Amino acid sequence: MVAEAIDFKINKVAESRVNQLDPENIVFGTLFTDHMLVADCVNGEWQTPEILPYGDIAYNPALASLHYGQSIFEGMKAFRNVDDEVVMFRPEENFKRFNISAERMCMAQVPEEIFMGGLQKLLELDNAWVPDGENNSLYLRPFMFASDVYLGVRPSFNYRFMIIMSPAGQYYANPPKVKIETQFIRAAEGGVGYAKCAGNYAASLYPAKLAQEQGYTQLLWTDAKTHTKFEESGTMNVFFVKDGKLITPKTSTTILKGITRDSLITIARDKGYEVTEQDVFVKDIIEGIKDGSVTEVFGAGTAVVVSPFSAIGYEGEDYVLPEINSDSVSSVLKKGLNDVRKGISADTHGWVYKV
Ligand code: PMP
Repeated sequence: MVAEAIDFKINKVAESRVNQLDPENIVFGTLFTDHMLVADCVNGEWQTPEILPYGDIAYNPALASLHYGQSIFEGMKAFRNVDDEVVMFRPEENFKRFNISAERMCMAQVPEEIFMGGLQKLLELDNAWVPDGENNSLYLRPFMFASDVYLGVRPSFNYRFMIIMSPAGQYYANPPKVKIETQFIRAAEGGVGYAKCAGNYAASLYPAKLAQEQGYTQLLWTDAKTHTKFEESGTMNVFFVKDGKLITPKTSTTILKGITRDSLITIARDKGYEVTEQDVFVKDIIEGIKDGSVTEVFGAGTAVVVSPFSAIGYEGEDYVLPEINSDSVSSVLKKGLNDVRKGISADTHGWVYKV
C-alpha cells in the first residue's frame, strides 16, 4: 500500500462527531468528518503530512493564493459497497488530474504517497463517516493553495495541500432545466478550462446567477469563439442521445477531462451502445429535440453522477425533453456505474480501490 511508504503524523480527535451524521438527511458540503490532512511544501520540499482534528486554519492577509488565485482542487467519492467495505472510485485518475492542474497553475507537484496515502489514512480513521444508502457517499476534497506571504505576482515558493471529507447524498432532487449560454464563456483555447482551478468556478458564478434569475438551474456552456458548439454544463461533462446513439464533445484544453465521462463512455461501449466523441452543434441538438431524434441530454460528474435535463433554454425558447424512465440511456448508464461502485456488478476495468 502506498500509505505505508511515508510517515504521517497523526493527532486523533478525543471523541468522534459521527453521531451528527443523519444518512437520511444529508445537505451537501455542510458537515465534515472528524479529521483532515495537512501537508506543506516548503521551497520544493514536502514536509511530513499531518492528520489533525477537522478545524479552522489561520492565515496571514498577504497569503498569495487569496490575491492571485494559485488554488486547485479535486472532487471524488468513497462508497460503502454491498459487502460493507469502503471503496474509492478511480482515485488514481483524480491524482493524475490534480497534478495536471498543478502544472498549469505553476504549482508544486504533489507526491502520490501524500495524495493517495493521505486519502487512505483519512478513510481508515473516518471509516464510520462513509454513509450507507443508494445515493449516499463520502465526498473527498483534496485541494492545494499557494502559501507564500508575499504580494508580488510570481509563482509561490510554498504550498499547502489538504484533504477534507464531507458526507454527500442525492445532488439535484428534480431534473434541472438548463440554459444554453451564448454570451459568457467558461473557458477559451489556451486558457485553463482543463484545470480544476478555483478561478474557473468563480468566473462561472455570475452567468449562472443570471440564468437562475431566468428560472434555469444551470448553464450549458458553448465554445468561446462561435457559441455554436457545446462544451460542458455547469460543473459536468455533457452527453446527448440522438437516434439512440450517445454523443459527447471531445475533450480539449477548454473541457475538463471528467472521470465520470470517461467511465460512462466505457460502460456504454461495454453495453453495446455506439458512442462518438465529436463536435456537437447547438443547432443540431435544437433541431433534434424538435423532430424527436434527440431524446436525452444529461450532465455527468462526480457530484451528480448522471443528471438528465428536463428542458433546454435557447434564445428565449424552452425545448422540453422527453421524460426519463428506467430504460433511458442515462438511467442504464447511471445504474451501470453505481453497480460497479457498490460492488453489485463485477469491476472488469479495475476501477474500484478498496481502502
Ligand atoms: N467539468 C467540470 C468543470 C467539473 O468541475 C467537473 C467535476 N469535477 C466535471 C466536468 C466532471 O468531472 P468528474 O467526472 O471527474 O467529476
